[in-house]
Parts: sequence; structure tokens; C-alpha cells
Amino acid sequence: MNQGARWVVVALAATIGGPSNDPDDSMVVDKASAADEVVVIVDGQMKSDRCLNDSMFVGSGPVTVGDLVKPTKCPAETTIFSKGHALTTVRPPWSKDQDAIVLQMGPSLREVNVDVYVVSTSDRAEDWARTDLDRARTLYDQNRTGLTFTETKFVTSASLSEAQVATIGTNCRQADGLKSSTLYASDRINVYFVPSIMIDYDFTNRGYNCFEKKPGNTDGAPNIIYISVLRHSPTTLAHELGHGLGLQGAAGHTGEEGTTYIEGFESVNIMWTGLDSDEAAAKDQFSLGQGFRMNADERSWLNRTKASSSPGPGSRKCHPSGPKNKIPCPPLAFDLP
Ligand SMILES: [Zn+2]
Repeated sequence: MNQGARWVVVALAATIGGPSNDPDDSMVVDKASAADEVVVIVDGQMKSDRCLNDSMFVGSGPVTVGDLVKPTKCPAETTIFSKGHALTTVRPPWSKDQDAIVLQMGPSLREVNVDVYVVSTSDRAEDWARTDLDRARTLYDQNRTGLTFTETKFVTSASLSEAQVATIGTNCRQADGLKSSTLYASDRINVYFVPSIMIDYDFTNRGYNCFEKKPGNTDGAPNIIYISVLRHSPTTLAHELGHGLGLQGAAGHTGEEGTTYIEGFESVNIMWTGLDSDEAAAKDQFSLGQGFRMNADERSWLNRTKASSSPGPGSRKCHPSGPKNKIPCPPLAFDLP
């Protein structure tokens, strides 16, 4: 697609427009490059009073969006998804007149600080820790989440004492102790590459995010992640980071062979679980609905302080998988066709 490519209108024809003499509004994303691969989602109120909900536009415009007016009853916000830029939500000043809205691209990718501890002494563990983080960066950018991961600490197994290894342990039951040690930072995501994760005596996970409140993990810790070197898979870290960023509970796992799945998802989705090694390694998708929640859902670790994340969408309680109320969050499976 060339720079300045025309908009591709994906879901608009049925919701707005129609024969009318009313002036249609237009939108353009300023200074977007082809590499940004912009996708815009519009919620708003039409002159007819109908609510426009999750209309998707692919490209940077300009595009005609029908006659949007100052909202009185509909959620009205526009979200810009792209590669290489933070996710941005704005509320354009729609009026009863013919509006020509110029949207600005978000700043560069929002950085999430990650401390990495390689506990396993396996000679591949350090390489895997680095390549997994790199893969997570690629997957999060490629799927337009607007997020990237900055390695703020990288601790090798050679520098950890036996006592420190014992403090880190092999599962979330040790989170309380770990949190009061120097092997944890509350303002970062802490990832521990351990030899294996022991949850039950006969069960071992590929990865484990400690967001659930349980004995030994009193408050829950979405910023503590264990990764198994024994059962290593290159997409596990990206998956566990997704749990930390709010994809939990009913919006957590998108599917698992033979049990449940959320309509609209396939096994290439990074939050699908229980796959064999080859299938797990091939996972490469987050939906736009998942990326939106990572930034906006109140459960996302990014929103732990409840502070509004300007220019992000701010913290809100997103429905698990579909629009069941007026809080604007696209459905979990909402994505490019
Ligand atoms: Zn999971």
C-alpha cells in the first residue's frame, strides 16, 4: 500500500450514509506512513440519533464517515491502531455541520519495562530469554497493540545464589516472599526463566502468570511471570504478558482444544492454550479487541494505578468478550477481516 493510500471502508455501508442532502463528515490521519498500517475504529452518534458502534476504517484516509454529531446518548470516541505507534483514543468535536476531522498519530510505542531473571542453568536458557522477549516485541507491534517491551534488567543464573534461586521458586505460591525480596520490582514486569514450573506434583506448565489471588500470592501479581525452560515454547512469554495486560478470566484464554473456545478466534491466537509444541510455536495473532483491552481494561497491569494513560484510552471495565453495556470496548474478537 502506498503512502496516502485511500481508505478501505470495512463495516460502514450498512450503518451510515444513505440518500440524503446532509453534509457528510470526513476524517484523515495526519502524517501516517504506509508502514504504520493504520486502522481506525469510530464510535459516535449519527444525526439520526443512531449510535455508530465500532466502524472500522483501514488506511489513513481521507474518508467520508456520514453525519456524526455532538453525542448526547452514545459513547463517542475514535481509536487509532497502528504499527510503530502507541494506541490512541480521541474524542473528535463532531458537530451538526460538515466536519473535517484531522487525527494525529500516537507517539512511539508505549514501553513496558521488563526485568528478566534466568534461573535455569541450561545452556540455551539465556538465548531463549532474549529471543522470547524479542519475539514478544514483534508480535505485539505486528498486531497493532501499540506496546513494546524494554529490557530493564537481565540477571543470569551465574549471578544468582542458591538462596535467591530458592526465593524465586518454581510457581506463584512464592509470590508474597518474592515480592519482599530484591529479586522483584513492583513497577516492572518480572519474568523468571526457571528449569520447570511445578504447580501440582504431576503437572507442569509452559508458563504461569501470577495474576490470581491464591495462598502465597495474597494480592495477585500480574507482573510476575514464570517461564519453563523444560517445556520451552517461543510464544509462551508473549502469552503470559497478555495475561498481565488484562487478558484474564473470561477474556483470558481464547480457546483450548477439546474444551472451550471464544467465537471468532482460532488456534493461531496467542491466548489459545493447550497446544502441542508446533502449534504453540506458530501462534502469531492478537485481535484488535485484545490489543484495546491491554491498553484500556482496568485489569491490565498498565492501569494498576488507575491513572489515565494519556493519550491512551484510560482505564475502564471492558466486558469479557462482547458489547454488553455502554462502556466502549470493541468485542474481544474484533479484528481486521
Ligand atoms: Zn494462559
